[in-house]
Amino acid sequence: MAKLIDGKAISAALREQIKQETRLLAEQGITPGLAVVIVGEDPASQVYVRNKEKACEEVGFYSEKYALPAQTTQEELLALVEKLNHKPDIDGILVQLPLPSHLDEKAVIAAISPDKDVDAFHAVNVGRIMQGEYRFLPCTPAGIMELIHAAGVAVEGKECVVIGRSNIVGKPMAMLLLHENGTVTICHSRTKNLPEVARRADILVAAVGKAGFVTADMVKPGAVVIDVGMNRNAQGKLCGDVDFAAVSEIAGAITPVPGGVGPMTITMLLKNTLAAARR
Ligand code: NAP
Repeated sequence: MAKLIDGKAISAALREQIKQETRLLAEQGITPGLAVVIVGEDPASQVYVRNKEKACEEVGFYSEKYALPAQTTQEELLALVEKLNHKPDIDGILVQLPLPSHLDEKAVIAAISPDKDVDAFHAVNVGRIMQGEYRFLPCTPAGIMELIHAAGVAVEGKECVVIGRSNIVGKPMAMLLLHENGTVTICHSRTKNLPEVARRADILVAAVGKAGFVTADMVKPGAVVIDVGMNRNAQGKLCGDVDFAAVSEIAGAITPVPGGVGPMTITMLLKNTLAAARR
């Protein structure tokens, strides 16, 4: 039976550390500040933003929320980003995605100062990650690396397979594993013989967005399985991309959903904001 990688507990310990460091920084008169911008009424985005605000409060950060109406124009949004870029009490800017379809996400991300880009989506920060320079790490992949480390797994020399190649999860995930000397394969919807490729993995990361995608026959005995997926099953219950019951019989270690990767993402956002404030 696989060892459970408890993202909730690992995340709680890291947030406690961030809280302590924030307290020390406060003695020097510095309070990390995060601005969260949300446009429109998307219910999932509202929940994410609320959780981010709550997390900031818990560790002693200053936070500002800008809730803009769905019909906000590109110019209005860019003007707000520009204002936040220059606001001295704000160290990190997060624009909650997805934006309503009339807005140009790429242009908005490009407008955020790379020094305040705590999501690490700006091309400058993406480029830095490619070069192996870690100013800000992309939150979800960085959280996954913390989980792998906490489970006592060394990446060096391991076969790593990432299923999914999105800019926010799959691609940066592959890069972080590569930087730790893993041998990395990225799978996607055009990959041939995906189960066969997945079965080679010592470390298997599933970031597909399809419930039950990773079945037991795709997993090498003893592998570390990281489930990034956040899906709703037919009963409306939150579940990952991995058939947890069957795969945990075979894997060496596995992250649950909920309680695995999810809690780590916001923790990494806090870590990035703290790093920005220090700078
Ligand atoms: P995405 O942009 O939709 O990317 C999904 C990837 O999966 C794509 O690269 C796609 O391949 C690949 N894919 C889809 N169907 C496939 C198939 N049948 N065979 C092989 N590959 C397939 O999603 P994302 O933003 O990366 O997110 C992935 C999942 O992680 C979602 O469930 C999301 O909700 C979750 N997520 C969780 C967190 C967290 O904090 N826990 C954070 C971010 C995302 P192509 O490129 O070829 O289309």
